[in-house]
Amino acid sequence: MEIELRSDTFTLPTPGMREAMFQAPLGDDVFGEDPTVNALEAKVAKMFGMEAALFCVSGTQTNQIAISVHLSKGQEVICDELSHIYLYEGGGIMANAGASVKLLKGDLGRLSRSQIEAAISPDDIHACESRLVSLENTVNKGGGSVYSSESLQEISDFCRQANIPLHLDGARIFNAMSVTGQTPSQFGAWFDSISVCLSKGLGAPIGSVLVGSHAFIKKARRVRKRLGGGWRQAGLLAAAGIYALDYQVERLKEDHARAAAIAKICANLPWVDSILPVVTNIVIIRLKEGITANEQVAALKAKGIRCAPFGPQYIRFVTHLNFDDVALAAFETQINQ
Ligand SMILES: *Cc1c(COP(=O)(O)O)cnc(C)c1O
Repeated sequence: MEIELRSDTFTLPTPGMREAMFQAPLGDDVFGEDPTVNALEAKVAKMFGMEAALFCVSGTQTNQIAISVHLSKGQEVICDELSHIYLYEGGGIMANAGASVKLLKGDLGRLSRSQIEAAISPDDIHACESRLVSLENTVNKGGGSVYSSESLQEISDFCRQANIPLHLDGARIFNAMSVTGQTPSQFGAWFDSISVCLSKGLGAPIGSVLVGSHAFIKKARRVRKRLGGGWRQAGLLAAAGIYALDYQVERLKEDHARAAAIAKICANLPWVDSILPVVTNIVIIRLKEGITANEQVAALKAKGIRCAPFGPQYIRFVTHLNFDDVALAAFETQINQ
């Protein structure tokens, strides 16, 4: 069988989700009159203990809007060198916000308070003003690594003292919470803005939500419109998001168990050099010297297993709701063929 592990974005809407989409009451969201979009935004804001939320087309859009609202032209965001906002958003920090970036090298993509503190530009006219810190959790390129509560509390305390806003790229924030037991309201207290993807492990077809203060979301709504992201009867999609939050969060731990199983199955294969620590739904494998990612991806594709190249020497598997125990058993058979 064909086994899809390139990304947790390959999930398809479940029957219950499709039914919820079909039934959703709709209106024009640019006029603020789509009841289902309004319900999703209110639900996510309340969940995170934030004042307001904005439903957007993608996680790239929510991150880019947040960066554009927090930063003025010529200022900088501090983030890890593995960050999605830097690597995978088309140069948007510069192109959309006219801003610069200061890259730090963290532990599997996770920054510490002391690193951030040391990176803040001095109050000097030669320097680029550091006006935003952005964290990612889980860290995609860090193999799905998660932040501890202690670390987040320290970073948040520092940013408050320094009066620098703190943004979270929480594309997989529910995966992180599933492992650590942290709650959305803790994240709402630590961060000034959070981007939450509904279309990754949660299994909605489209959409991300940005949460923050009333004043922040009001500005964000204007930036979204400017980017052409004002949408009309988007309640069809918001309904899928509400359904995902109600019924498809608890099951994320199954994805984590299957990712751990994949790592175990792969540990002794001849082409595997090492595997990054697996704590959530991402498995990043370093290939043995002399094997390229493209070669290995093609070899696995020939066995019916789809994965993604992740740099010249790495490949990535991501588990998700369409990868069940039957698929896991098939994975083990097919990879050993
Ligand atoms: C997927 C992802 C995003 C957003 O991606 P979109 O495809 O634009 O929704 C942002 N950050 C991280 C870490 C991601 O993995």
